[in-house]
This record gives sequence, structure tokens and C-alpha cells, in this order.
Amino acid sequence: MPGAATSYLLVCDRHRTFTGLGRFLPKENRFEGEYSLLHNRHTRDQFFLARFLLAHREHPVRVIGSDGDQYYRVLNTYRRFMEEDIPKYVEERVGEEQAEADRRLAEQQAGQLQLFVVKHWIEREWEDVRRTEAETEKDLYVLLGKDWAFQRSLHAIRRVVGRSGKEG
Ligand SMILES: [Zn+2]
Repeated sequence: MPGAATSYLLVCDRHRTFTGLGRFLPKENRFEGEYSLLHNRHTRDQFFLARFLLAHREHPVRVIGSDGDQYYRVLNTYRRFMEEDIPKYVEERVGEEQAEADRRLAEQQAGQLQLFVVKHWIEREWEDVRRTEAETEKDLYVLLGKDWAFQRSLHAIRRVVGRSGKEG
């Protein structure tokens, strides 16, 4: 069995070209994908693999590993498939991931803002309850119930805000 550090190339000898598959990731059941030296990262998807297979359909293609003796010969003498497109593609992938991270952060911040608005509202309502004087015993119990409910609500919100504040 090849080691976890083995990198692979998919090769078409007829066209003296290859696409880099990177290492195989067993947990995710996929290859790392083509590699951009400029960004020092892999595509993390199978875009170039799929394009390679389509471009060389009905040609014999083979996979070779960096633990074999042909790997570096192919790497140095064959043409890398769609080589000019790799940096731009990886750049787009990085951009998409950044946009997704930004979107998640914005959502989290919007959620925090809503919590602060609710917290402020509860504090005001609570203050009203505390200022109200009970005229009957029944009123007193109602007010105590409200007082307890507002206190619990604020406590819950402070816990949530405190927790996500630590994460962010
Ligand atoms: Zn071919």
C-alpha cells in the first residue's frame, strides 16, 4: 500500500500530458486536487481531474504515484494540463471561501445585534414591572412572576452573548 504522503498524477501518454491529483485523503475519499505554487494550496476539489478525463476520453490514462520511478520523469517532461488556469481557479476558490466566512461572520453579528435589542427591551419592561406597585395580593404574585421571568430571560441572553463573544 502506498503511504499517506504519496502524491499522484493522472497521465495521458498519447498527449504527453498529466494533471496533478495531489495526495489521496481517505477520510474524505477524494484527492487534494491540482496545486497552485502561487497560492501554496490545492484546489481541494476534482475540477481539473474531471476536465482531464473529459479532454482525454477514450485515451488510455494511468495513475502514477510519487513512490514510483516514473513520477518525476513525467513531472519534468510532460505538459501540465490547463496549467495557466490553475492559479486563477485556486484564487477564485479562496475568494469564495473568504466570502462564505464573511457571510457567516455578518450573520453572527446580526444575531448579536438582535439579542442586544431584545435585551434592552426586556430591561425596560422589567424596570416598569419593578416600579409598579401591587394593589392586591394577586397583583403582587403576578408582578413577582413577571419579575422572575424577566430576570431569567436576561440571564439567558447574557449567557448566549457571553459565549459567542468569546468565540468571536
Ligand atoms: Zn490524451
